[in-house]
Amino acid sequence: MGQPVVEISDDLGVKTADGSWQPRHVVIAVPPAVAVTTIRLPHSLPTNLMAVALRTPVWMGDTIKVVAMYDEPFWRTDGLAGAAISRVGPLHEMHDLSGPDGLPAAIFGFARGGQPNGLDETDVRAQMARIFGPHAGVPQELQIQDWSRDQWTNPAASAEEYVPTAPDYSMFGHAMYQQPHLSGRLHWSSTETAPLYAGHIEGALEAAERTVRAISACPE
Ligand SMILES: Cc1cc2nc3c(=O)[nH]c(=O)nc-3n(C[C@H](O)[C@H](O)[C@H](O)COP(=O)(O)OP(=O)(O)OC[C@H]3O[C@@H](n4cnc5c(N)ncnc54)[C@H](O)[C@@H]3O)c2cc1C
Repeated sequence: MGQPVVEISDDLGVKTADGSWQPRHVVIAVPPAVAVTTIRLPHSLPTNLMAVALRTPVWMGDTIKVVAMYDEPFWRTDGLAGAAISRVGPLHEMHDLSGPDGLPAAIFGFARGGQPNGLDETDVRAQMARIFGPHAGVPQELQIQDWSRDQWTNPAASAEEYVPTAPDYSMFGHAMYQQPHLSGRLHWSSTETAPLYAGHIEGALEAAERTVRAISACPE
């Protein structure tokens, strides 16, 4: 499609800004809360399903991920694991992300998103230097991805009607996602819909397998 889906109608018509399709099945493979806030969904879907979708958290959707690249994994020769947990921040968790034999050399970390001014790169460099030594404060490359500001990941990033609440992880794998809707032709299939490993890649695979089984079992 190459464009965001903006509407799915009761007869399963799918629209983007420039195109429309009339498929036999529609698979919603985006986080349910993102689907509800970015797509006009069929009116005939149960209202309690919409409420469940809105309350289903997006796993790590409020997170900032940081990757610091170095010429070599110097922390290993310094006898350090390249991992840390911090209550001070800005990164609260860090791990050695290096490839086999230490190359490419990298440490990654997570910071909490949703801060009004985002993440200050200087604070990240200072924290890395404090924990892993001065070399860590001057990475060859520092990549910062703020998922909390990505509207296709975090509904709070764009949708005014979305009021974030404390994440309710009991919504993961909710029973309403397990059966297709609209005569078996509309499927909820993101990782958040999986009863096991919801939020992880494994959950996405499980949801995909359930969807394939449902489509295969649906009469023409
Ligand atoms: C910071 C971070 C770290 C993570 N770390 C791990 C990890 O270590 N291990 C692990 O197993 N999992 C991890 N995850 C989770 C993992 O990324 C997800 O489980 C997986 O990507 C979910 O796959 P999915 O197919 O359900 O959906 P996604 O991969 O989220 O794909 C949904 C897609 O739908 C698109 N989209 C949204 N709205 C629309 C629309 N209206 N129209 C068209 N497209 C739309 C989005 O842009 C996105 O490309 C992490 C996630 C984040 C954010």
